[in-house]
Amino acid sequence: MADKFDVIVIGAGPGGYVAAIRAAQMGLKTACVEKWVNKEGKTVHGGTCLNVGCIPSKALLETSHKFVEARDHFAEVGIEVDEPKANIAKMLEFKNSVINKNVGGISALFKANGVTSLEGKGKVTSSTEVEVTDHDGNATTYTADNIVIAAGSVPVEIPPTPLTDDLIVTSTGALEFTEVPKRLGVIGAGVIGLELGSVWKRLGAEVTVLEAMDSFLPMVDSAIAKETQKLLKKQGLDIKLGARVTGSEVKDSEVVVKYTDGDGEQEMTFDKLIVCVGRRPYTQGVIADGVGVELDERGFIFVDDQCRTNVPNVYAIGDCVRGPMLAHKASEEGVMVADIIAGHKAEMNYDVIPSVIYTSPEVAWVGMTEQDAKTKGIEVKTGSFPFSANGRALANNAPEGMAKIIADAETDRILGMHIVSQHAGELIAQGVIAMEFGSSAEDLALTCYAHPSTSEAIHEAALAVEGHAIHMANRKKR
Ligand code: FAD
Ligand code: AMP
Repeated sequence: MADKFDVIVIGAGPGGYVAAIRAAQMGLKTACVEKWVNKEGKTVHGGTCLNVGCIPSKALLETSHKFVEARDHFAEVGIEVDEPKANIAKMLEFKNSVINKNVGGISALFKANGVTSLEGKGKVTSSTEVEVTDHDGNATTYTADNIVIAAGSVPVEIPPTPLTDDLIVTSTGALEFTEVPKRLGVIGAGVIGLELGSVWKRLGAEVTVLEAMDSFLPMVDSAIAKETQKLLKKQGLDIKLGARVTGSEVKDSEVVVKYTDGDGEQEMTFDKLIVCVGRRPYTQGVIADGVGVELDERGFIFVDDQCRTNVPNVYAIGDCVRGPMLAHKASEEGVMVADIIAGHKAEMNYDVIPSVIYTSPEVAWVGMTEQDAKTKGIEVKTGSFPFSANGRALANNAPEGMAKIIADAETDRILGMHIVSQHAGELIAQGVIAMEFGSSAEDLALTCYAHPSTSEAIHEAALAVEGHAIHMANRKKR
């Protein structure tokens, strides 16, 4: 029998690595098992997020955005450059260097915090045992007082579009295209589909997004979703709603996709197809038969509000459990579970988790939409403000978008904030903090904001809740 630990974490994504670091910081003897190896055969930490998710997609979104700025918008502000060229190989090199710095950082943090890194595939074999099979197939069993499963998720595959090596790919393949496809199809107008569609559109592809649902971004406030749809359409993203993909055929290095819409059966031909229809929890081979950890009806590990499974001292966090599949949600659950194991009282506020779509402009939201509130029978008042009336946004040559605050009609407490704008992903932190502190819209309205800043649009939206935005006509008199 090998070493005994206070905590063994399975998976070193943003859920697992954060749980392991926090547990070690709490003085617990901690190990983290990771099976992911990079192209050089080296174990890498960081999971989906750092290797094939949040970080690489943001590197490509940022570089492709800079390219569009130089190509289409520098001249508008008086910067004349020769026509810029996108060097895809160099962009991929930059993206890979960003991944390497991030994953290397986690390994260094493990060392600095005294987390033991176990390389290989971990399997829970009892409520106190984890078997680790290394990359040569040797199995060792470690014991632990507590086990945290943070095995993450993998892309959903659908029967109409079986994956191929390089024509029909998931988000992972779409981060590796070595040249810009002329005609790119994207299945799914969710967060990942819109981000990856945007990257390749900006670099020159003709992009068609096929989305089965009739509504666009139903989880976002409808006013913001409508504005986003308009702005993305203006950029040339062809988003077909109510288009359900039913089949595909690979012919001469092209993909013929069949879909149905309101007019019946349709067909489109693409040079590459990205399948972005969601992710599913990854639990395969992670828990041995007989341990008794229950899964829910959708294959997620069943946990309570504090991420306890039904087996004592076995916890599960992140994408493999219920809730939004977001890195920061996984990390916060990691902190909560480590604190609970260390004997502290800890909980998470699942009502205040921000979401961001890193298109240009970005879309960010937290809390309820106006339509959610109506469905729940909560009376609300709202305040909106357009960035076209914000001095800093105009100076940034980024006047698109709007901010909207949803507040309880009676108490004025902020219930939601929804933004589409440049840097909305940064601005939304104000809504998150305000909601965590139980702020009213008036609290934000009475706060002094730096000028000029795009944050002032949030201030104005808060003022607008009572009809008193300063830089907007149609003010209400008190
Ligand atoms: P993961 O990151 O999936 O990590 C799980 C880890 O467990 C993996 O490293 C896996 O190898 C390991 N593992 C699994 N089973 C075993 C085993 N038996 N033994 C050992 N190791 C095991 N989220 C955001 O919040 N913001 C974004 O901008 C964002 N962008 C995204 C873009 C893309 C293209 C994708 C695909 C995802 C994006 N996400 C984003 C989602 C985000 O990546 C996930 O929510 C997050 O990674 C979940 O963290 P996790 O720790 O639960 O799982
Ligand atoms: P998300 O879960 O946010 O990543 O988004 C995935 C999107 O893919 C959802 O909006 C689904 O409606 C969409 N989707 C799933 N299957 C299909 C399909 N066969 N054709 C078109 N869109 C699909």
